[in-house]
Amino acid sequence: MRGTMMDYPLTLTTILERAGKFFPDVEIVSRAPDGSISRSNYGAFYRRARNLAAGLQRLGMKPGDRVASMMWNHAAHLETFFAVPCAGGILHTLNIRLQPQEIAAVVNHARDRFLIIDDVLLPLLAQFRDKVDFERVIVVRHTPAPLAPGDLDYEEFARGGGEDFRYPKIDENDGAAMSFTSGTTGAPKGVVYSHRALVLHSFVCALKEICNIGYDDTVLVIVPMFHVNAWGLPFTAAMLGARQVLPGPRYDAVSLLELMTREGVTLAGGVPTIWLAIADELEKNPGKWQFTKPVRAGVGGSAPPMELFRRLDRHGIEVKHLWGMTESSPLGIAGGLKPQIRAWDGQRQLEMRAKQGMPAPFVELRLMRPDGEAPWDGETSGEIEMRGPWVAASYYDDPSQKDRWSPDGWFRTGDVATMDADGYVKIVDRVKDLVKSGGEWISSVELENTLMGHPAVKEACVVGIPHPKWSERPLAAIVLRDGATATGDELRGYLATYFGKWQLPDAFVFLDTIPRTSVGKFKKSALRERYAGWDWTKSARS
Ligand code: AMP
Repeated sequence: MRGTMMDYPLTLTTILERAGKFFPDVEIVSRAPDGSISRSNYGAFYRRARNLAAGLQRLGMKPGDRVASMMWNHAAHLETFFAVPCAGGILHTLNIRLQPQEIAAVVNHARDRFLIIDDVLLPLLAQFRDKVDFERVIVVRHTPAPLAPGDLDYEEFARGGGEDFRYPKIDENDGAAMSFTSGTTGAPKGVVYSHRALVLHSFVCALKEICNIGYDDTVLVIVPMFHVNAWGLPFTAAMLGARQVLPGPRYDAVSLLELMTREGVTLAGGVPTIWLAIADELEKNPGKWQFTKPVRAGVGGSAPPMELFRRLDRHGIEVKHLWGMTESSPLGIAGGLKPQIRAWDGQRQLEMRAKQGMPAPFVELRLMRPDGEAPWDGETSGEIEMRGPWVAASYYDDPSQKDRWSPDGWFRTGDVATMDADGYVKIVDRVKDLVKSGGEWISSVELENTLMGHPAVKEACVVGIPHPKWSERPLAAIVLRDGATATGDELRGYLATYFGKWQLPDAFVFLDTIPRTSVGKFKKSALRERYAGWDWTKSARS
C-alpha cells in the first residue's frame, strides 16, 4: 500500500519563498570587487531574484536552458543562484580560475545560452568570447564603465518586472545547477545538480553534526560560488534565514578576518590553505583580532593537516571537517566526535578529529579492493564507492566516463580510505597520488600532513616520481615559513619518528610556492612532470 502523503516537489522555489516571507529583514552583507561593502536583506534579495527570473524568461530562457555565471561571491551572484533555477533554467557557474580556452570548452560543452558576468571579469571574457556563442551577456556593473553593444545591464533586470512572475512547473528531478570538476584528474567533467539533490543536501548540511546552521548564524561564504555551489552554503543559509556575508574577490587572511570580526561571523567555509593563512595571521598579531561570537570553521576540499586543528583550537575556532566532491554536491562525509570518543585522551582524540568523519545521513559508502568489498568490521581499507540522493548518476553528456560507476550503480570516487570500527573514514590518498614503491603503497597525504606539523614547514606536497628500482619513490616539495631554515636531512629525520624508513621521501626540493589547481589544491601533476627525470643517484636511497 502506498503512503497517504502529498507528492510535494523538493525545489529551490520553496527556499526562495521562505527566505522572502519569513526572513525579509535578515541581512546579506556583500563586498564588491573594489572592497566596498553593501548591505541588503532577504526581502530585497527575494524581489530582485524574482525580477531577474522574470527578465530571463522575457529574454526567451526556456526550461532546462543553461545560464552561465562568471562572478565572485556577492549579492548579485546569490540572486542569480536562485533566479535561474527558479525560472526553470540551470545555473552553470564558471570557474574563473581556469584558462580562457578551458572556460570556452566547458561553455561549449554545456551549450550555455546566456551569461551573467561581473564587469571586472569582462577582460577574461574578451579572451574567449569569439570561441563561444552566448546569445546575451548580462553585466553586473560595479563601475560606471559603458556596456559593449548588445550587452545588457544586470540592474535593469534586478530593479523590477518580477511582480507578476509565476514559477514554471518544475519537477524535483529537473536540473537546477551545473558544475564541472576542477580538472585535477584530466579533462573537466560536468555534473548537473537536481532541485531535489540541492534541497536534501541543504537539510543535511544544516544538521548539528555537519555544519549546525540556523537563523542565529552569520555565514561567511569563503569557498567560491563557482566551486560546487560554494558547498551549497548559500542554499542552506537562505533556507534557514541565516545571515550571509559574501567576501567578493578578496581571499587574503586579513580581509577575511576583517569581515569575520566586524560582522560577527559564526560559521565560515573554506579550504585548508585559507585556514592555514588565517591561523598564521592570528598567530602573527596576537590580540589584534577579537571574535565577538564563537566561530566554526568548515574545512574541506583537501586534507587539513592535524596541526591546523591544534592551531585553530588555540584561537577558540571549532573545526567542522568536511569531505566532498563535485560529484556529490559536494558533502559526503563529515567529522565530529561521538560522545564516547570525546572522553579519549588528547592525541587519540585529535587523530579522530583529523579523520574525515562519518558518512552523512543518506550517503552510503563502501570500500572496494580489487578482490571485492572490504568488510566493515574493524580497520579496513579500499577505494571509496558512494551512492546517495545527491550523488551524480552520470556526467553531463559524457558517455566515455561510464566506468566511473560500478555495474550496480555506485560512484567510484578515486579516493582510497580506511574505515574504523566506529565508522570513521580516513582518506589515505587519491588512488593516482599514492606512491607505489616496490609493491607497497605510501600515502602522500600522511607524509604531507606530518611535514606540515614541523615548525619550519609552511607547505608540503609529496609526489611519486619514477624510480628505476622501486617503480616510484616519494619526493617532497617544501615551502619553508618566512625566515625559517631546514634541510632535507633534518626533515627526513623528523619524519623517521613517525614512518618506516621505506616510506620516507628520498628527495626534498625547496620551492617558493607549490603549483595549485584552479580551486587552490596542490597541482601534483605539475610537480610530477617537473621532476619526472629526477636523478636518484644523487639521493639518499638510490
Ligand atoms: P573536487 O571535486 O574538486 O571538490 O575534489 C574532490 C576531491 O577533493 C575528493 O575526491 C578528495 O580527494 C578531496 N577532498 C575533499 N575534501 C577532502 C577532505 N576533507 N580531506 C581529504 N581530501 C578531501
